[in-house]
Amino acid sequence: MVSFAGGLPAAETFPNLCLDSATKDWMQYGASEGDQPLREAVADELRARGLSVHPWQVLILSGSQQGVDLVAKLCIDRGTTVAVEAPTYLAALQVFRFFGARFVSYSAEDPAPIVAAAAEMTYANPTFQNPTGHCYDTAQRFALVDACIRAGSLLFEDDPYRELAYEPSARTPLCAALVDTGTPWVYQGSFSKSLAPGLRLGFLACTPALLPALTRLKQAADLHSSRLGQALALAALRDPMQPARLERLVDFYRQRRDRFDALLKVHFHDLARWSRPAGGLFFWLALDRLVDTRKLLPIALDRQVAFMPGEPFYADSAPARGRLRLNFSHASTEDAARGLAALAEVVRTAN
Ligand code: PMP
Repeated sequence: MVSFAGGLPAAETFPNLCLDSATKDWMQYGASEGDQPLREAVADELRARGLSVHPWQVLILSGSQQGVDLVAKLCIDRGTTVAVEAPTYLAALQVFRFFGARFVSYSAEDPAPIVAAAAEMTYANPTFQNPTGHCYDTAQRFALVDACIRAGSLLFEDDPYRELAYEPSARTPLCAALVDTGTPWVYQGSFSKSLAPGLRLGFLACTPALLPALTRLKQAADLHSSRLGQALALAALRDPMQPARLERLVDFYRQRRDRFDALLKVHFHDLARWSRPAGGLFFWLALDRLVDTRKLLPIALDRQVAFMPGEPFYADSAPARGRLRLNFSHASTEDAARGLAALAEVVRTAN
């Protein structure tokens, strides 16, 4: 099976993690907020991104997926109006829906629905978005922030892909423009793409007023994130070779992206349109034909190739012309060539 379905990083990129100074202290229970040195390192990193936060505003998470859960638990009740991009991250939609969200959809070009619906919360993934790969330009960033301020909408910014930037791109967190405005915000990131997803480690920083409740919810969920994982992440962040490693990681994925783009041109040139993503892990294909891509999945699986159908990424109705999300980071060159040839055949023969 060749899978373009998940957002799996390439195993070749995983670092050799080790704890030089493994002390028994890391094996003891720890603070729900996370270990202080790691919170400080994260706050330093966020300040370097342009988001001015104190270490006490940082909560270490068991993967940024936990942040989606905690924020939803705190902020969404039955009927809460949540603005989401169309399309948006599927696993966030599922969690928000579970807690009773009523969705309103916006786009990078048109954030006005946030204001029109007076959305109580706005979820955004503006930097190399999952699933489209789109990175908001500076004007789009300001327009979204402005809509949140005018609607009084809490901005929940999810930023797990920002390190995977293959071209120069605007990446300043939207939340940086909300500090001191009175509009509440939560910003979160992940160690899954820059280190390894198996660590299950992420972090959030937020408006001070939200922190006590989010910390209590975190405590209720798992007391705290794995301290051994936190120690490994901290050692990796402090490693002087880390910037060079990240550069190599980005070069590796840029090559995979370009090779995938070339293969798409061979197999999908008469079937779909797409733009080459400036970062992240996905291509988003707009098929030329009217097809429900969910119906293509079992046929593709029979041909030993997996992909993510586009429809579930929409809170409301999906476009009639099918969309496919294809992960380019995981498959080897040979597998990608074989898988895309088979997938193109499946799309071509769809009726
Ligand atoms: N947010 C988005 C937009 C994602 O695509 C993902 C999965 N890669 C996550 C959050 C969760 O990532 P993790 O829990 O591995 O940090």
